[in-house]
Amino acid sequence: MLAVIFLATILGIQAHPFDELHQHVDDHVEDYVEALRQWVAVESDSSDVTKRADLHRMMDMTAEKLKGLGGEVEMVDIGFQELPDGTTIPLPKVVTAQIGKDSTKHTICVYGHVDVQPAKKEDGWATDPYNLTDINGNLYGRGASDNKAPVLAWIHAVEAYQALNLDLPVNVKFVIEGMEETGSNGLDTMIVAKRDTFFSNVDYIIISDCGWLSRRPALTYGTRGNCYFFAEVEGPKQDLHSGVYGGTVIEPMTDLIGILDSLISPSGNILVPGIREAVAPFSDEEWRMYQDIEFDMEAFKSKIGIDQLMYNNKVDLLAHRWRHPTVSIHGIEGAFSASGSKTVIPAKVTGKFSIRQVPDMDPAMVKKQVTEYLHSVFAKRKSPNKLKVTMIIGAKPWLADTKHALYEAGKAAVKRVFQMEPDLIREGGTIPIARTFQDVTGKSIIMLPIGGFDDGLHSQNEKMSRYNYIEGTKLFISYLHEVAEIKK
Ligand SMILES: [Zn+2]
Repeated sequence: MLAVIFLATILGIQAHPFDELHQHVDDHVEDYVEALRQWVAVESDSSDVTKRADLHRMMDMTAEKLKGLGGEVEMVDIGFQELPDGTTIPLPKVVTAQIGKDSTKHTICVYGHVDVQPAKKEDGWATDPYNLTDINGNLYGRGASDNKAPVLAWIHAVEAYQALNLDLPVNVKFVIEGMEETGSNGLDTMIVAKRDTFFSNVDYIIISDCGWLSRRPALTYGTRGNCYFFAEVEGPKQDLHSGVYGGTVIEPMTDLIGILDSLISPSGNILVPGIREAVAPFSDEEWRMYQDIEFDMEAFKSKIGIDQLMYNNKVDLLAHRWRHPTVSIHGIEGAFSASGSKTVIPAKVTGKFSIRQVPDMDPAMVKKQVTEYLHSVFAKRKSPNKLKVTMIIGAKPWLADTKHALYEAGKAAVKRVFQMEPDLIREGGTIPIARTFQDVTGKSIIMLPIGGFDDGLHSQNEKMSRYNYIEGTKLFISYLHEVAEIKK
């Protein structure tokens, strides 16, 4: 085969043996599915402490699989998790690996996770969530798409080069964690601690923990952050009977509903002064990018079961989903919410809401704006009750430059495997790790998803299609080559 490559190079034909690599992938489809079956069979639910032994086993299996690539594999102890009752249990170790140490090559670092969201057959799964089941080319199982198949696809991509005795175009590092679904407990500290060692020679970080928007492959270049608030209104020293006391006291719940209603207009305008003004302007170029994205409004409506959306054109809808802030009111603690008709006046209620963050908002500023605004609205009510506003989470948004060489490499790899241009998309949700990697290591990051738009992450009947899994592996193979082409 080397002679073939040599000849091809002389003739100026494709110098990279993609055909052989892709053929290798096609020849090993059943092995890849079997590997996924073994991983999905482990109930690595990070939110359920009774499953912690399974989670530890999952990290061991990940380390074993990475050792198969012949690199240096380490299981990094990240300490303990404190449970609500004050006891502590060990966190699952983070698995790091390093394959290749050629200083003339770029070094990429692939981030992924092998813990999963909870799943039970009784939740409404059509199949056993921990027994990978193939129905019409879709592989159903918890964690199949989020994030076990993408992690395996990266490992198989490296393996393919090795199996064909081809030089790996870049050095590859892995950081695979087991607490992503519950907030990546312990990972930030580990990244900070390894900034000057493990991460010091990493050029680029690649995250494949998201999905496409349609059947068209996508590159993801932004995520929203989130500021989560508690607004507590406290009145009488205990709950009261509305028949006995109603009409004599200013009720905390009425105050709370009043201030919550001042956050956002019925048409979706955030009413907190300063927030809309902080949002980076929507450029003409961005507008054109959004116009090019493949997105089916009708399918989106039917998926969530509603007739009318906030906006009735694609550009406005996607822009408000990804690059504008929004307020969501999540719940009221202390309010009566059981069935029946209890005539209670709750003494203390806590409204919970969050504001999705986008560039150029700053969580510290948002905290100040929201707190001052709610207190001013509350003051106008002249209520004797007490208001306390606290910000519980302040996660920043993340945004990459789609003209960066990493994205150009992504576009080239997508074109080679799928013969089309990728959609350039953002995520409306928060992937805090992207921002942490960027802030701590200062490296450029790309999100290169292979999951399908309808994979049902965190939901019943999660799946990964064979098509996305296998073609996704080829995409990673091509991407390794394209990244190597970036000028040092
Ligand atoms: Zn995930």
